[in-house]
Parts: sequence; structure tokens; C-alpha cells
Amino acid sequence: MTSPKVVVIGGGAAGLIAAGRAAECGARVILVEKNQALGAKLILSGKGRCNITNGEEDIDRFLSFYGKKGKFLYSVFSRFGPRETLLFFEKRGLRTVMERGKRIFPEKGGSEKVINCLIDYLKEGRVEIYRSREALNLEFRNGRAKRFILRGQEVEGDAFIICTGGKSFPKTGSSGDGYRFAQRAGHTIITPKPALCPVKLRDKWPLPARGLNLKNVSLSLFLDGVKISERFGELLLTHFGISGPIAMDMSREIDDACSGGSAELYLDLKPALSLEILSARIGRDFEKYAGSAFRESLKDLLPRGIISSVLEKSAIPAEKRVSDISSEERNSLARLLKAMPLVPSGLLGFDWSIVTSGGVSLKEIEPATMKSKLAENLFFAGEILDIDGPTGGFNLQMCWSTGYMAGESAAGIFALPEESGRRSNDDLQAKNPV
Ligand SMILES: Cc1cc2nc3c(=O)[nH]c(=O)nc-3n(C[C@H](O)[C@H](O)[C@H](O)COP(=O)(O)OP(=O)(O)OC[C@H]3O[C@@H](n4cnc5c(N)ncnc54)[C@H](O)[C@@H]3O)c2cc1C
Repeated sequence: MTSPKVVVIGGGAAGLIAAGRAAECGARVILVEKNQALGAKLILSGKGRCNITNGEEDIDRFLSFYGKKGKFLYSVFSRFGPRETLLFFEKRGLRTVMERGKRIFPEKGGSEKVINCLIDYLKEGRVEIYRSREALNLEFRNGRAKRFILRGQEVEGDAFIICTGGKSFPKTGSSGDGYRFAQRAGHTIITPKPALCPVKLRDKWPLPARGLNLKNVSLSLFLDGVKISERFGELLLTHFGISGPIAMDMSREIDDACSGGSAELYLDLKPALSLEILSARIGRDFEKYAGSAFRESLKDLLPRGIISSVLEKSAIPAEKRVSDISSEERNSLARLLKAMPLVPSGLLGFDWSIVTSGGVSLKEIEPATMKSKLAENLFFAGEILDIDGPTGGFNLQMCWSTGYMAGESAAGIFALPEESGRRSNDDLQAKNPV
């Protein structure tokens, strides 16, 4: 009996590990990628450092970062979760370091090193790589995927794994083609939306501070006057609005709020201080700078880059002598620093979103194998699925886990006769857990 032929479409994080694992499990594998280079998005990940996973050890807590959909990943994480992912890379010579927020990065070599490990994995399994080859259409016969039509050729297979990513950062190749292939099999596509995306603002006051990275601030989102979300951490002020981890992590809620009513954001520049303590602190600075202009009195309290913006929002004239400032004015300054108002006007869009929310409905995918419930030899993995997480390594971990298990399951679609000499998936798992 010949080994099954597995065709993987998409050479990103999910497709690379899926192809490698299918080959490791004994399949003949063809990997189709429309770019010349593999891992075009991976190379950008974590600003080239590649935050491969997160060091959160409690699996339930890890899964909670994906929201309600996290439970879908329980099964694949039990087989190939963060721990197995780290062992996988370590085995290929990649040592890692854990940083703030339990983010795990390669110790040296960043994204390039990650891609090289995956390319080695493909070489080990003799995966045939079709580069610069765009998949155009998927054809079915009798409820089974039969062949992929590529630009200029066709490729038949026994099993197909679609790992074409979402719609974000389309310049890396992920332009949403996979949704069309999934729909050909009858799959439901949950409307793709930009997620982890910079936020546009109506306000002009942050403009003088563009480029400023604010650390240890908090951002609160209000919908129709009711607070619905809050994040603490780093925020970047830009020429169009806000970016950085807390803005990106909140972007989906901001987008929903913008279309659901009146959305407002409040930036707390001093979240560690209560209003009273902040007001007293300002009072001490005012004593120190009593003979100076108001603008001078802010330089001990605030980063230099944001002072012009605060002056613009404050009711106190910039040149007013500090000794002439009333206690009511001082309290209003404290209130402003605790809640700088921002009005969001939407997200910057797919061109700049780190991930896509939405995609192939999870209800139509078997969670243990990543197999389509609608076509028996079709599998999906990675960002094409309707699941995404916050920044911190959660999105790549989802790709590693779903990709690995899709590869293993696609290779195992035929029952193997004992005498075939090919290792079963259980054997492989027992002998070679990563
Ligand atoms: C700037 C940036 C930084 C990021 N940093 C991190 C990070 O540090 N940590 C983290 O966890 N996540 C990060 N992410 C998110 C993470 O990189 C992605 O979620 C992940 O790479 C998606 O992998 P994927 O394999 O599902 O899809 P992709 O990486 O998008 O790969 C899909 C591949 O399919 C190919 N393809 C598409 N259509 C076709 C077709 N018709 N024919 C042939 N090939 C096709 C594409 O060319 C592409 O190579 C970042 C994302 C971005 C944009």
C-alpha cells in the first residue's frame, strides 16, 4: 500500500508544521505556497523576534485567553500544546527566553531561526515544496476533495490541509483565498474582521505626542456611558490614533462599540495613583514650581512628549503662573490626567491588523483532528479558523497546535495494514512525542 499524498496549501506557521508532521507520520507531502519565500508573516512576527508561544503553564488559563472559543483547542493542546511546542523547537536547536507577560522568544536568531527549524523539519520529511504557486480552486468528487487547481498546474491528493491564513497583512500573502476553498466544501465563514489592530481617533490633541510610547497606563472603553472594558500596560500614540499592546488587545471591543452606539475611551496616565494622591502630588510640584509657568510644573510628573497634549486639553493656560492656579484648577488637572478623553472612529483595517477574527466556523471542524465535518479528507489549521487570541504568543501557539494535529490526522486518514511497515500515529506519538 502506498503512503497517502497530503497536499498542504499555505507555507505560514500552520502550513509549515502541518506539512512537516504529515511527512513525519509517513505521508508523501506537497506544500504549495504562493510566495517565493516561506513564512512571510512569521518573519515579521514579534517585530522579527517571533513571540512563539506564552509561558502560562495552566492550560485552562492559557485557553481562557481565546475567550469562549478556547475550549475548542482543548484537545489539540492536550496533544501538542505550549510545552510540546517548546520541546519541538528545542530539539531543533532553538533555545528560548521568557520575558514580560510570559512571552517566549528565541534566545537568538528571532523569526529567521524559527523558520529555519521548520524548513529543516520539511527537509527531514522530504516535503516537496511548490513555491510561487498560487492555489486557485479546490475540486470535489463524491463528497471528497479531489484536486487543487494551481496557477499553471493541478495537484491531486488523498488529503488536503488548508492553511492559507486570514486576511490581515495581505502583503504577506494571506488575502483570504482559503475562505473561498472552504465555502466550496459548504463551510460557513464567520465574517472576517481585523483584530489586534491600531485604532483611529477623531481627536487631534494626541498629535503633538505621536511616536510616544506610554508605559504603565490604562485605557478604559465606555459604550453609551457605561464602562465595558479596561486594559493596563503600554500604549503608543500615533499620527492616526493609538497603537501598542493595550490598544491592539482592545481593538475588537472598540470596533464593536463604534458600531454599537456611542464609544469613548479614557486614558489614565497615572493608574497607580488615586485621584486624591495624584492631586496631592500635583500640589507638591506646584509648590516647587510656584514662580514658574504652568507648563514648567508638569515636567517632573509626565513624559516630556505628552506635555503639549496635556496643555491643549487642560483648562489652565500654559503660561499661567503656578502660584495663581486655584485648588479647583489643580483638581481638574488631576481628573484630566486620570481620564484623558479619546473618541475612536474605527480600526485601521486588515492592512495593519495582526490577526483576523472570524473565519471557518469551528462548529464544522472536528476539534481533535482539525478535519472538516463536511468533507472527509479536508483539514484546516491556523488563522483561517474562527479563533484568535491576544498578543503574547497565543496566535502562533494556536497555529502550531492546530497545524501539527492537522498534519498528523491528514497523514493517518487511511487505516494501515500491520505489515505495511509504516508507523501508526499512536506509535509515532509514543516514540516521538514532539
Ligand atoms: C506584524 C505581525 C506580527 C505578529 N507577531 C506575532 C507574535 O509575535 N506572536 C504571535 O503569536 N502571533 C503574531 N502574529 C500573528 C501570527 O503571525 C499569525 O497569526 C500566524 O503567522 C498565522 O499563521 P498561518 O499559517 O495561519 O497564516 P499565514 O502566516 O498568513 O500563512 C498563510 C500562507 O498561505 C499562503 N497563501 C494564501 N493564499 C494562498 C493561495 N491561494 N495559494 C498558495 N498559498 C497561499 C500565504 O502566502 C501565506 O504564506 C503577528 C502577525 C503580524 C502581521
